[in-house]
Amino acid sequence: MIEETIFSKIIRKELPSDMLYQDELVTAFRDINPQRSLHVLIVPNRHIPTVDDVTSEDEAALGRMFSVARKIARDEGISADGYRLVVNCGEHGRQEVPHIHMHLLGGEDVGPMLNRRN
Ligand code: 5GP
Repeated sequence: MIEETIFSKIIRKELPSDMLYQDELVTAFRDINPQRSLHVLIVPNRHIPTVDDVTSEDEAALGRMFSVARKIARDEGISADGYRLVVNCGEHGRQEVPHIHMHLLGGEDVGPMLNRRN
């Protein structure tokens, strides 16, 4: 049994967050350390540590994460200008919190996708 993270406590509302959306499959809340004007995390309610742990049973929740990203982008008024969705996985992906999360970043030009190596 892999230990749950702080995100499970946020989902259960045992810890405070600026929550924008919740349903039976996913929860969305503002990142505590925003990297762009809008920075929201969208997470499955079930504790799935990384993309490498995903099974076919998770497909509904993972699909819902995209629908909720679209809804929040519209609600926040950034749809027309565009935005970026990011999911980090594991050590090389620099994932810090081992509970799958989609970063929704926007409200400004978020910049190049990756820093060039040279
Ligand atoms: P990762 O690097 O794992 O893809 O991203 C983890 C994200 O979670 C970071 O952007 C970090 O700021 C955010 N984060 C970590 N702890 C908390 C917390 O307790 N509350 C909120 N709202 N965000 C958090």
